Amino acid sequence: MRRPLVAGNWKMYGTRHSIDELLSGLNAQQWPEQVDLLIAPPALYIQQCREALGQSPVRLAGQSCAWQAESGALTGEVSPAQLRDAGCEYVLVGHSERRSLFGETDEVVCRKFAAALACGLRPILCVGETQQQRDANETAEVVGRQLQVILERFGVAGLAQGVVAYEPVWAIGTGLTASPEQAQEVHAMIRARLALLDDEQAQRVQIVYGGSVKAENASALFSMPDIDGGLVGGASLNADEFGAIARAAGQVQ
Ligand code: PEP
Repeated sequence: MRRPLVAGNWKMYGTRHSIDELLSGLNAQQWPEQVDLLIAPPALYIQQCREALGQSPVRLAGQSCAWQAESGALTGEVSPAQLRDAGCEYVLVGHSERRSLFGETDEVVCRKFAAALACGLRPILCVGETQQQRDANETAEVVGRQLQVILERFGVAGLAQGVVAYEPVWAIGTGLTASPEQAQEVHAMIRARLALLDDEQAQRVQIVYGGSVKAENASALFSMPDIDGGLVGGASLNADEFGAIARAAGQVQ
């Protein structure tokens, strides 16, 4: 049985003050016990989050990391080892904003995945198609390619050390959500592809959905058989909304 996971991606939002308020709101939530919970704040504020969260079940994630595990001459980057040192347990790799705005290729994403694993971080591999690719019926091919590079290097067992986030690009930050059926279709396709290689490991991989998840659509999405929770952007900046999404994940049988 897979545990659901709900992750909040704060992107490049927040100030020390607004993050203090958000953390107070998070600390006032009733968290479901059976859900893995995490937030990915801007790197600058990880320490602030760590101190405020204390014994909270909410874990920390980086939003990206360098492609090299340990320190080095990479101005502006944060290494997976530094994220780990700061208290992170997870890191996002291959978010569509990193792929489209910062030119991260599948090979770069794979190097980051490897560097994260080498430091004991669980990488959350983001995959997903654009609207144009969906319209051209290329979803399976695009998502398959994004997974393939990781599978060739690490196999399904290596992928299972991380998490897969299916995030259709057309649904990120747009208010457009994939319907539960549309999302389930891709999640099932991903799991079937993994199962062809290693069925036992494929059943262990947490595959979460991201793309305009809110409290109002979370239950319907999370009740689909291959959707193991969510990666939440905008709605994670509101503590009550994020709490409600987490509880929705906790209520799924
Ligand atoms: C994201 O940034 O990963 C995301 C899913 O954003 P949103 O929930 O705002 O669509």
